[in-house]
Amino acid sequence: MTKDFLLSIVIPVYNEEQNIKPLLQNLLPIIKPYRHEVIFVDDGSNDKTVIIIKKEAEKSQNIKLIVFQRNFGHQMALTAGYQNASGDCVITLDADLQDPPNIIPQMIDKWQKGTKIVYAKRERRDVDSSFKRLTAQLFYKYINFLSDSPIPEEVGDYRLIDKSVVEFFNSLPEHSRFLRGLTAWGGFSADYVFFKREKRFAGETHYTVSRMLNFALEGITAFSTKPLRLAIYLGFLTSVFSIFVIVVKSIQHFILNQGDWLPGWASLFFSIVFLGGVQLITIGIIGEYVGKIYQEVQNRPKFLIKEKINL
Ligand code: UDP
Ligand code: MG
Repeated sequence: MTKDFLLSIVIPVYNEEQNIKPLLQNLLPIIKPYRHEVIFVDDGSNDKTVIIIKKEAEKSQNIKLIVFQRNFGHQMALTAGYQNASGDCVITLDADLQDPPNIIPQMIDKWQKGTKIVYAKRERRDVDSSFKRLTAQLFYKYINFLSDSPIPEEVGDYRLIDKSVVEFFNSLPEHSRFLRGLTAWGGFSADYVFFKREKRFAGETHYTVSRMLNFALEGITAFSTKPLRLAIYLGFLTSVFSIFVIVVKSIQHFILNQGDWLPGWASLFFSIVFLGGVQLITIGIIGEYVGKIYQEVQNRPKFLIKEKINL
């Protein structure tokens, strides 16, 4: 197979100061046989991440850096990487060594056989908490139930894409960037390479429960606005509250034979609060889409770049 092509590696980084060096030590020997560039996209870190990458970039022209003005999120960092990559294929991977670079040659092999997208698929995920595994499973089940173009399960943002797919991403006008969904939506030929997901090398995950929940909603509606989203949560809370009250009241009345039970009170209370909750959820969902339209119409830049090095 020919080695005459340019390989771009895109790595979003957000407060990863302890991971940069170990990552490069791991990655560089593996990609050395190929002509390559490594593009770090700093997503508004407030630790030494940028300083460390700058030092590396001074040593080698192949190491490049884009610095965001502030934190714009993982998907935006990837988007900026795609826009600035000049490779014949682009591989995106996390900075925390959870995505092992040693499968890169296998990914390149599959790409050279003509596949446009090569996903790295998690074979085992036992390092992640059972909570994360369960929520991820539910997320994919749900999103695939709703969507016309199923997203492969156990696949994250570790993937190789061909230049033509990069061009497809870059040509999309929308601000909403749920890249896993967009990758699947494009319908390009895809293949898999399996790997075992490692533990995060240093630092903590940036995806807290609320961030995961938001990411999931983003994936389903593809964009959002916070206050409208709150309406959804409020709706759920009121519904749950009304159910709680009706259960407590019933126990009081039927089992403990106590309480100020007025005929018809409970059913009235229940239906009013429950329906109120359902209505709030519905308004919230409609609001999600209105918010999406609003953000697209505003047409603000997807991210602001403060600085570029070696690019
Ligand atoms: N990341 C980012 N911006 C963010 C959050 C995360 O660029 O707002 C980067 C982070 O530095 C890492 C990758 O995205 O390289 C994946 O994040 P993380 O490891 O926290 O997620 P997890 O692997 O736990 O899902
Ligand atoms: Mg990680």
